[in-house]
Amino acid sequence: MRLHGSKRQVGDDRAGTPGESALAVELRGVRRQYGRGSTALHALAGIDLALGRGTFTAVMGPSGSGKSTFLQCAAGLDRPTAGSVRLGGVEITGLRENRLTELRRSRLGFVFQAFNLLPSLTVEENVLLPMRLAGQRRDRRRAADVLARVGLADKARRRPGELSGGQQQRVAIARALVTSPDVIFADEPTGALDTTTAAEVLGLLRQAVDLLGATVVMVTHDPAAAAWADRVLFLADGLFAGGLDRGSAEQIAARMAALGSPAGAMAGAAA
Ligand code: ADP
Repeated sequence: MRLHGSKRQVGDDRAGTPGESALAVELRGVRRQYGRGSTALHALAGIDLALGRGTFTAVMGPSGSGKSTFLQCAAGLDRPTAGSVRLGGVEITGLRENRLTELRRSRLGFVFQAFNLLPSLTVEENVLLPMRLAGQRRDRRRAADVLARVGLADKARRRPGELSGGQQQRVAIARALVTSPDVIFADEPTGALDTTTAAEVLGLLRQAVDLLGATVVMVTHDPAAAAWADRVLFLADGLFAGGLDRGSAEQIAARMAALGSPAGAMAGAAA
C-alpha cells in the first residue's frame, strides 16, 4: 500500500529546531562543465532547486541529461564549476575535502543500485558503519530499530551474501537511516531488482519519508519507481525541464517520451 503522509512545507515549524533550515537541499545556479573552450560540455547548465524536509523527489531524464552529475554535485561527491549547494542549511560548496567527507558521513545517507554493502561485515555491522566512520558511538539499539523498520530484525548476524537482493537493499536503507540524515540520496535503487522486490524497497523509502520525516532524492530511469515520489523533476541537457506532482507511472512515462524529442523538451520547460 502506498502511504501518503502530509508533506512538510518550507516554514513548517516541525521542520527542525530554531535556526535549522527548513530546506533539506538547496541548489542555486549549479553548473558543472567538463572540458574547456570549444569542447566544453555543460553536464549541468544552471540548476536551481529547493527541497523541503520530509519530501520524496525523483529526478528523471534521458541518458546523458545530467542525472548522475546532478546527484554527485547535490551530494557533495563532485564539485560544481559554479553555483552553490546547501544541505540541511549548510553551504557545502567551499568546504574542504575532509569536512565534506565528515558531513557526508554524518548528515547524508546513500542507497545505490549495487547495494554497496561490505561482504565481510554482518548486517548489523554494515548498518552501524556510518556511525563508526563518523566517529560516533555505535548505537546498537538504533541499529536494531532501523533493521526492524525494514523488516530484517532477525537478520542482524547474517552476512550480505546470505541475503537476497531485495533484503540487501533493505539493509542499505537501514544503513542510510541509522544516522537520521538530512537527506538520503538514492541512485537507481531498484535497478537490480525484480518488480515485486522493487516495490517493497520503494515502499520502505516512502515510509521513511511519511513516518520518519526523512528526505529522499532518487535518480531513476523507471517511471514506476518515480511514481512513488511526491514530485518528479525532469532533466534535459543539464537543465530542469519541468516537474510533475503525484504523477502516475503512465503520466511520468508520457512526459519522459516527450522529453526524448526536442519539441517535447520545450513543452516540458514551458510547463
Ligand atoms: P546521465 O546520468 O543522465 O546519463 P551524466 O550526468 O552521466 O548523465 O552525464 C551528463 C553529460 O556529461 C553527458 O554528456 C556525459 O557524457 C558528460 N559527462 C559526464 N561525466 C563526464 C566526465 N567525467 N568527463 C566528461 N564528460 C562527462
